[in-house]
Amino acid sequence: RAKDEGRNSFQMYQTAMNARSLEHLALEAALHHALEREELVLHYQPVVDIASGKVVAAEALLRWQHPDLGLVSPADFIPLAEETGLILPIGAWVLREACRQRQSWAKQGFELPRIKVNLSARQFRDPNLVSLISGILSETGMPATSLNLELTESVLMDESEFGIAVLARLRDLGLGLALDDFGTGYSSLAYLKRFPIDELKMDRLFVRDVERKPTDAAITRAIISLAHSLGQKVVVEGIETQAQLEILTDGGCDMAQGFLFSKPVAAAEFRAWCDASNRNT
Ligand code: C2E
Ligand code: MG
Ligand code: MG
Ligand code: MG
Repeated sequence: RAKDEGRNSFQMYQTAMNARSLEHLALEAALHHALEREELVLHYQPVVDIASGKVVAAEALLRWQHPDLGLVSPADFIPLAEETGLILPIGAWVLREACRQRQSWAKQGFELPRIKVNLSARQFRDPNLVSLISGILSETGMPATSLNLELTESVLMDESEFGIAVLARLRDLGLGLALDDFGTGYSSLAYLKRFPIDELKMDRLFVRDVERKPTDAAITRAIISLAHSLGQKVVVEGIETQAQLEILTDGGCDMAQGFLFSKPVAAAEFRAWCDASNRNT
C-alpha cells in the first residue's frame, strides 16, 4: 500500500515534470518570436515621493501577451530569457522602449522625472552594456539623469570587482542606480557601502506583516537609517494599505510604490492616472 502510494506519487511527479519541461520548451520556442511579433509590452507603476505625494518615477515592468498562452508573467519568462540569452535583445528593447516612452511623454508636456528599468545579471555582464545605454540615450534624446537602473543583490555579488567597475561607468554616464529587492539576498551589509548605489528598494517581504509584527517595523526602520547613513534614498515596494504607508513614513522612508497607489498599467493608463490623481510633477 505504502509502496503503491510511493509509486503513484512518483508517477505524478514524473508527469508533472514532463508537463513542465514541455511547457518550458513551448515557452522557449514562443519567446524566440515574441520580440519580432511585437508581443512584448511595458507596463508602468508609479513611484511616489512620500513627503510631497508626487510621482517621481515610473518602474517599467515587462509583460508578454502571447496570442494563445495569454499574459505570461515575468516571473515565468525572465528566468527563461536569461537561460537562453534572449534577455540581451529583450533587455535592449526594454531600455529603448522605456526611454522612447518617457521622451514621448515629455514632448506632450508630461515630464516624468525618472524611468526605472530592471536589469538582469546577464545584461550586467554584457561588455556592450555601457555603449548600448549611451547609444539609446542619444538616439532618444533622453537625459541620463532620467534613467534609473534597478539591479538585484545577486547581480552585484557575483563578480564584485567587475561589478563595481561597470557601476562606476554607468554612474559616469549620469544614470541613477538602485539596489532592488533589498533584503531578499544574503549579502553582507558591509558590501552595501562598496557599491555606488543611490537608492535602495526595500523588498515587500518586510512590509507585508509590518502592521502586525513590531519586529518587522523595527527592521524596516533599521534598513532605512542604514541606507540614509550611506547617503542613499529608500523606496519601499509593495505598499498595499494606508496603515503600511504610515508605518513606513514614520520610519523615514523616502518613496513608496505599490498597489495602494496603482498596479503596473499600460502607458496610456499610467498617464491618465497621473493626471487624475493630480500627482503630476
Ligand atoms: P521587481 O523589479 O521587484 O518588481 C516589482 C514587482 O512587484 C512587480 O511584479 C510588481 O507588479 C509587483 N508589485 C508592485 N506593487 C505591489 C504590491 O503592492 N503588492 C504585490 N503583491 N506586488 C506588487 P512583476 O511585474 O510581476 O515583475 C516581477 C519581477 O520580474 C520584477 O520584480 C523584476 O525582477 C522582473 N522584471 C520585470 N520586468 C523586467 C524587465 O524588463 N527586465 C528584467 N530583467 N526583469 C524584469
Ligand atoms: Mg524592480
Ligand atoms: Mg523589487
Ligand atoms: Mg522582485
